Amino acid sequence: MHNIWMRLKDDFQLSIITLVGFCSLIGITPYAVYRLLEGSLMVGVVDSLMVGSTVLAVLYAWKTGNTLRPGQFLAAVYSVGTFLVAVKLGVNGLFWFYTLILFNFFVVPPLQSAVATFGSLLAICVYGYLNPGVVFESHYQMVSFFVTCVIASFFASVFAYRGRRQRVQLSELATLDPLTRVGNRRAMDAELKIALGEHRRYGTRYGMLVLDLDLFKEVNDNHGHKAGDRVLVDFVRILQESCRQSDRLFRMGGEEFVLLLPKLTHAGLEKTASHIRTNVAELLKGPGGQVTVSIGGCMLDQHPSVDVWMHEADLCLYQAKDSGRNRFVISAQATAGEKLATQPAVVSADQG
Ligand code: GH3
Ligand code: MG
Ligand code: MG
Repeated sequence: MHNIWMRLKDDFQLSIITLVGFCSLIGITPYAVYRLLEGSLMVGVVDSLMVGSTVLAVLYAWKTGNTLRPGQFLAAVYSVGTFLVAVKLGVNGLFWFYTLILFNFFVVPPLQSAVATFGSLLAICVYGYLNPGVVFESHYQMVSFFVTCVIASFFASVFAYRGRRQRVQLSELATLDPLTRVGNRRAMDAELKIALGEHRRYGTRYGMLVLDLDLFKEVNDNHGHKAGDRVLVDFVRILQESCRQSDRLFRMGGEEFVLLLPKLTHAGLEKTASHIRTNVAELLKGPGGQVTVSIGGCMLDQHPSVDVWMHEADLCLYQAKDSGRNRFVISAQATAGEKLATQPAVVSADQG
């Protein structure tokens, strides 16, 4: 139950689709039964199809976590259904257009919702125009209906757009470091957990590098915090240019970063560490001259937790610092328990 509540809280699209599912179940089902009983077969069948499609779409969204497809499917079903209901019921069926507008704009992307909504709206207006007295009581009523629908669509699209943007901004605030625009600690914790899960389930290889700028405090002390910030931004740019697209960089805090590297070997991790160290030493210029980095690294092996994996990489980083900075130390490939009993076994070290 707690899980269901959390998913509803975290996933806005899923909560809307579920809400619509719930509303249509208790809102349209009585209409469907009533129409079938009173002999309006077409409307009864259309209503029943809308309820059935909704239930299927909601179940699909919950099972797969994909809300776009069921949303598109429902937008198409409701747009056609609303048109058919209005054709059959006339003015009494037109009110459903306003709920259609809200649903379409809040659930599917703007262009698709505009196409579905205006397609249905134009269809009913053309049908009403060609069949005077069947849907609309007068042309004036038809124009009023059309104009109010367009205005309602405009407001719905503006609110939906703002809502989407704010959700993106909130998610960025929660997961990105504002200075360097790489993932923050929260994002790192989540991705490292996923990596551990994938390694255990599918055996996917992962390497981790912990990177810490050398004597960075001096840059701040001698040239100010702003100059230090510029060095951090340049450092991140060099890191991103030195690794693969699939590698994930996070700022752990201060001038310490973590690079998560999927699908690579122990030798690959050493090569990347060496490449980064060289690039930083050559390219990273602070106001007082060259700035270097020390790196500790470790392949994910039989580590019981993310913390143990990171601790091993950290021990390597301390060794790199202790042995003079501007170098990398990668932990040997042995069982995690063995290595943690003592210091990590250094198999590779490189210095400038
Ligand atoms: P070491 O080689 O041993 O790592 O030395 P260090 O000077 O880099 O290490 P220390 O941990 O003593 O100093 C880290 C400094 O990083 C302290 C702080 O002034 C600076 N720092 C932390 N966060 C920020 C930041 O967001 N911006 C700037 N400009 N400086 C920061
Ligand atoms: Mg440092
Ligand atoms: Mg540090």
